[in-house]
Amino acid sequence: MSKKITFTKIRRRNQFITFLVFFVLVIILFVSMLVNPWYKIPVNWYFIPVLGLVGSILIPRYMGRHYCGQYCPSGFISDSMNHKNRAGKIIKSGIFKPIFFALFIALFVVAFLPWDMGLPVSMTETYWDGVINKLWILWVICPFIIALPLIVIFGLTKGGRTWCNYMCPWATIGVALGKQQLEVNDNCNDCGSCLKVCSQPEVIEPVLGTGGKIGANCLICLKCVDACPNNAIQYIEKK
Ligand code: SF4
Ligand code: SF4
Ligand code: SF4
Repeated sequence: MSKKITFTKIRRRNQFITFLVFFVLVIILFVSMLVNPWYKIPVNWYFIPVLGLVGSILIPRYMGRHYCGQYCPSGFISDSMNHKNRAGKIIKSGIFKPIFFALFIALFVVAFLPWDMGLPVSMTETYWDGVINKLWILWVICPFIIALPLIVIFGLTKGGRTWCNYMCPWATIGVALGKQQLEVNDNCNDCGSCLKVCSQPEVIEPVLGTGGKIGANCLICLKCVDACPNNAIQYIEKK
C-alpha cells in the first residue's frame, strides 16, 4: 500500500533542507570568525548577505507566511518541539512584535553606519566592504545570538511556535506584505480536528462552523488541512 503524501511530510522535508544549508553556512562563518576575529568574508561570498537583505523584503512579499510554515530553517527546530500553545495573555497581546521589529530595523541601520566606527569589521578597505561584513555578522547575531535562544526557551516553555506566532520580526513583514491566506469554507462541520494541531488556535477558531478567512497571523503550516476530514480549508489571495 502506498504511503499518503501529506503537507506535513512535505513541510518537514523542506524545512530540513533549508535548515541544513543554513546550518552549514553559519558553522563555516562561526569557525572562520573564531579562528580569526578579524576575518574578512571572501569577496565572492558577498552575494549571500546581499541576497539575505533583499530576501527579507522579497520573500515576505511573494511567499508571505507560506515561507514560515513551509521553508524557514528555524521552523525545523520549532516544529520539533511541542506544538501546544501555552502562551499567556502578555505574549498573546502582541506586545513583543513591535519591540523585536524595532530591534531588527536598528540592526540593519547599524550595518549601514560609516565603517570607521571602531568596530572590528571596520578594518576592511572600503565602506561597502564594511557594510557587507557587518551584514554577515548580523546574519549570525540575529538568528543565532538573539532569535535561536528565544525560539528554544519559549518553544520549550510556551509551545514550539511561540516565537513565530508572537515575536518574530520577519513574521511582522510577512503578515504585512504577504498575499497568501487560508479560508474555511462551507464544508466545515465544526468537528474541531484542526484546533488540536494548530499552534495558535485563535486564528482559526472564530471561523469554524460559520466559514470565513483564517487570521492573517496564520503560519500557513497546513497542519489543519491535513487534519481536516472535510476538505474545508483552502487557499485564497488577500485583497
Ligand atoms: S516567524 Fe520568523 S522564525 Fe518563524 S518561521 Fe517565520 S520567519 Fe521563521
Ligand atoms: S490555521 Fe492551519 S495553517 Fe494556520 S497556523 Fe493553524 S494549523 Fe497552521
Ligand atoms: S477540521 Fe475541518 S471540518 Fe473540522 S472544524 Fe476544522 S475546518 Fe471544520
